[in-house]
Amino acid sequence: VNSPSSPGPDFAPLLARLAKIVGPQNVLTDPHETEPYANDWRGIYFGKTPAVVRPANTEEVAAVVKLCAETRTPLVPQGGNTGMCMASVPRASGGEIVLALGRMSRILNVDALNNTMTVEAGCVLANIQQAAADADRLFPLSLGAEGSCQIGGNLSTNAGGVNVLRYGNTRDLVLGLEVVLPDGRVWNGLRSLRKDNTGYDLKHLFVGAEGTLGIITAAVLKLFPRPQSNVTAWMAVPDPEAALALLALLRRHVGDRISAFELISRNCLEMVIRHILGTRDPLPVPHQWYVLTELADASPGGGLRAQLEPALEEAIEAKLVIDAAIAENQAQSQALWRIRESIPEAARSEPGMLYRHDISVAVSRIPAFIREARAALEKQYPGANVICFGHLGDGNLHYNAFIPGRSRSEAAAREAHDVTDLVYDIVQRYDGSFSAEHGVGLAKVEELRRYKSAVELDLMRTLKRSLDPGGILNPGKVL
Ligand SMILES: Cc1cc2nc3c(=O)[nH]c(=O)nc-3n(C[C@H](O)[C@H](O)[C@H](O)COP(=O)(O)OP(=O)(O)OC[C@H]3O[C@@H](n4cnc5c(N)ncnc54)[C@H](O)[C@@H]3O)c2cc1C
Repeated sequence: VNSPSSPGPDFAPLLARLAKIVGPQNVLTDPHETEPYANDWRGIYFGKTPAVVRPANTEEVAAVVKLCAETRTPLVPQGGNTGMCMASVPRASGGEIVLALGRMSRILNVDALNNTMTVEAGCVLANIQQAAADADRLFPLSLGAEGSCQIGGNLSTNAGGVNVLRYGNTRDLVLGLEVVLPDGRVWNGLRSLRKDNTGYDLKHLFVGAEGTLGIITAAVLKLFPRPQSNVTAWMAVPDPEAALALLALLRRHVGDRISAFELISRNCLEMVIRHILGTRDPLPVPHQWYVLTELADASPGGGLRAQLEPALEEAIEAKLVIDAAIAENQAQSQALWRIRESIPEAARSEPGMLYRHDISVAVSRIPAFIREARAALEKQYPGANVICFGHLGDGNLHYNAFIPGRSRSEAAAREAHDVTDLVYDIVQRYDGSFSAEHGVGLAKVEELRRYKSAVELDLMRTLKRSLDPGGILNPGKVL
């Protein structure tokens, strides 16, 4: 096929050797087939690749990496390609091979007594959740992309999601890893131990490394008791201050049974109703801010609703809650969660470019941050439409903005940084993070340089150089 992204003749010998390792049918070179692997989820970055290689097991991954190390061919590991920072796509220069892990999708073992599960890196998150449920356990990682993201991608981005409040980030959910190193050696760290202080805890090097230090091929994950009862509530609150006070009040009533506590601004709900079929406002009249919360209890007959109702009454009396809808059944709960989970998709359907800021500050400082950042954006860009939602209980907001007159392509060209600089400078003053859960990828390399200390950058570069001296793994990402 003659197209700009077809592999040139220079790649032919390498592609033939790769085909010997994984089988010719698992080396995709037709641009129509490789395109979905080269473009990012947000639809604003279009990379190029000579080939997508799809290994079936760790031995094949190791052989591919070894060959690429030998021939100094850059490799981009890819899971479900749902990442938000262009970390999983090859760059537009066109010489990077995509290593797609999706064929490695086996659940290798479920140990219900040890509360662990061993899985291959290409397992789709929803399938892992289901396998845990089948064993009467919970794997608590949960996020909007769970139907397509893969555990290797979740680990490599240290994904957060809606249950961090109770269960932690992906980093907190892993006990062991198997990793193919940049020279093709395999590190088998598939331990299922809860206590193991035998030197450096190497697995944490690869968690959140966005595929720059090694290829994760398998993982041992932690499982938890499966909740026997849940309650989901959608509450209108006057402002983020009230939302924060509500979180403290709920904690007083139900303790750590709060598994999710999400803040949602009115315009997020309106966007979802506009673009996502079958969604509607859960309350009869509009309000500026909402909280979606989930309570879960692993003991039978947890009586959660009976605990939530007096808490809500107290919150209404204290004017922390204006109105509320409590899901009566699983279908209603799913409908409420669908609103929350559909916000990124709805934003993608809007015209114009969404400037995304996945930020975190101390939970207590969230309301002040929202006020200050909104005022600064509106002053600098009159008519700016701030789309604010996120994991309030973790101090993590998706603090996004549409800027009038900026189309998607123009904005892509100036991708970073005038709007983002303005927001991140405020985040910095709040001692926060410019990337709470999405990572750095290609999108935030500048920010890493701008906001990290020289010592921290030097440590990161030292690690990268010593593990991947040839710089073949996901070059240009993170550092
Ligand atoms: C609708 C929607 C909602 C989302 N909600 C959340 C959310 O709530 N919280 C959150 O944290 N994220 C969220 N995300 C972002 C994204 O889903 C997560 O970052 C997810 O963990 C990425 O997984 P993936 O399999 O798609 O990885 P990819 O996008 O394919 O890759 C991400 C990074 O991991 C690397 N990688 C992938 N697999 C491997 C491997 N086996 N070994 C080494 N490196 C690898 C890639 O090179 C890349 O650097 C959301 C995305 C969407 C589209």
